[in-house]
Amino acid sequence: MSSPYLVPVAQILRDVPSSYEVDFEAPFDESHEFAPRGPVETDVFPEALVHVKVRIESFSGGLRAKGRVEAPWHGVCRRCSAPVLGMSSVHVNERFVDERLPGDEESYLIEHSFVDLTQMAHDAILLDLPLAPLCRNDCQGLCAYCGTDLNDATCECRAPIDPRWATLDGLQFADPDAGSNEG
Ligand SMILES: [Zn+2]
Ligand SMILES: [Zn+2]
Repeated sequence: MSSPYLVPVAQILRDVPSSYEVDFEAPFDESHEFAPRGPVETDVFPEALVHVKVRIESFSGGLRAKGRVEAPWHGVCRRCSAPVLGMSSVHVNERFVDERLPGDEESYLIEHSFVDLTQMAHDAILLDLPLAPLCRNDCQGLCAYCGTDLNDATCECRAPIDPRWATLDGLQFADPDAGSNEG
């Protein structure tokens, strides 16, 4: 029961309103409680260190955790399939209650005078993960015909040319901008 995600809240529940500052780094999912996502989906390694910095405030109906959760993610470039690493930094503002009212699907539960921030951190990070990361903004991707990585090399493949336009390929056109600075 020594997980830093598990925060004792008996004191602040007694003294309303009061608050408790939490600031720790811990593995994202040390007990491998959450199912890994698909191999091509952006995900966070279970061992990756998550930084949780929240203030937990008590009010008459429960608790509110406000602050920030940060975690490193890994993914696959949507254009060239290279591995991509990134950092999610998510603002959180979540409610913790003793008992959820009917229709309340957003609050987390206070259990035995503790709140467990594991699920909240997990939910916040997963919602923020990029679905289609890029290895860099100007990634050229792979050639659709031969698979060459166009970031590293060029290839001879061309999109099929409409034969009606093929003859234009051999023509030279005067560039209206060329030479405009020359008197
Ligand atoms: Zn790429
Ligand atoms: Zn090619």
